[in-house]
Amino acid sequence: MHDFNYKDKELYCEDVSIAKIAEDIGTPFYLYSQKTLTNHFKNFDEAFSAIPHIVCFAVKANPNISVLKLFANEGGGADIVSGGELFRALKAGVPAEKIVYAGVGKTNNEIRAALYAGILMFNVESSEELIRIDEISGRIGIKARIALRVNPDIDPKTHPYISTGLKKNKFGIPIEEALESYQTAMRLTNVEIVGIHKHIGSQLTEISPFVDALKRILRLADNLKKEGINIKYIDVGGGLGITYKDEEPPAPKELAKAIVPLIKGKKRDYTLILEPGRVLAGNAGILVTRVLYQKKSGRKNFVIVDAGMNDLIRPSLYSAYHNIIPVRKKPIKKFKADIVGPICESGDFLGKNREIACEQEDLLAVMSAGAYGSSMSSNYNSRPLIAEVMVKGRDYHIIRKRQDYEDIIIKEEVPSFLR
Ligand SMILES: *Cc1c(COP(=O)(O)O)cnc(C)c1O
Repeated sequence: MHDFNYKDKELYCEDVSIAKIAEDIGTPFYLYSQKTLTNHFKNFDEAFSAIPHIVCFAVKANPNISVLKLFANEGGGADIVSGGELFRALKAGVPAEKIVYAGVGKTNNEIRAALYAGILMFNVESSEELIRIDEISGRIGIKARIALRVNPDIDPKTHPYISTGLKKNKFGIPIEEALESYQTAMRLTNVEIVGIHKHIGSQLTEISPFVDALKRILRLADNLKKEGINIKYIDVGGGLGITYKDEEPPAPKELAKAIVPLIKGKKRDYTLILEPGRVLAGNAGILVTRVLYQKKSGRKNFVIVDAGMNDLIRPSLYSAYHNIIPVRKKPIKKFKADIVGPICESGDFLGKNREIACEQEDLLAVMSAGAYGSSMSSNYNSRPLIAEVMVKGRDYHIIRKRQDYEDIIIKEEVPSFLR
């Protein structure tokens, strides 16, 4: 599953003592295991080896260039949702022909940049966006390969904030309107229809929503064929869940077993595109933080640590659970406490009502923080973005330096009337 394990009473990432890294570089920091990331990618990729496929890592889960490069070196592509992510993916050496681009609000500049880069396809989220892409493509003389992102109206049975494939969500084109939209696309001269895309949500722990959604998409593909519209790529999005606490999500192999037969040997010679994010990066990273203070308020205990909601917002935003464990196990009594950050918000917590044994200055590891951790962090309370570190074997490498205060204010300007 991952490579964060106790040796004796000390937590290691692969063969490196986490306490040693903290001593060297200070806290807090994100820590990723090269071995876990690589194994997760290979495991996922191999699961689908029976059919032509491309694994396009969802950049928003963890956009660090070293992480992107690691997956690119394994043959992966990228699923992007902004011009900034395009920039990062290209910087990391992800081949443009393995980049797919979703998102409901692509700007003219972003569309232009993606066309010049020569990405594999745009996953178009509305009729107006389709017309806009056609216009821009015509103007600059580069044909756009497109898929329509179809909203299959399937309940992914996950947290409402990370469900995307229901009618009430802002994503994609309703499936009933999809055929008509494809016919519109057929009439446009600067776009080439190459695929169908869907992505119904994140942290899915059941297989059935994937299967139900794919069946709907394949039915659409069959109907398109009758209209003379031939699709090459079926993009099934991402969304496979991970274990944070006691979830038991299907393994990539089980997902493949359920969906590959719907394509293989059914005269559906499509190339499958997959957009895993969380399942590749989530359990390959942790957040390391130090206990600053402990205090009591009535009967409640608080452990105050040096990482806050600006570093890891998932608990505050989605009431997400992250396991929190000591970096060094001590023979002291466990007590129940809320583990909170230094941010001036009551919503600033990493864990509530946790059984924990720790003292001032101790290090804690917030587990499963490799996806939607660093990528969602901010400078709130004027706190510098923290360092990111990758371990490989016996060595660790800083893959993003901690910001300093100058970095935070560098783009600010004081107008003359205030000088
Ligand atoms: C966020 C996102 C993903 C990745 O989702 P995970 O749950 O991290 O696998 C894939 N595709 C699209 C379009 C997304 O927006």
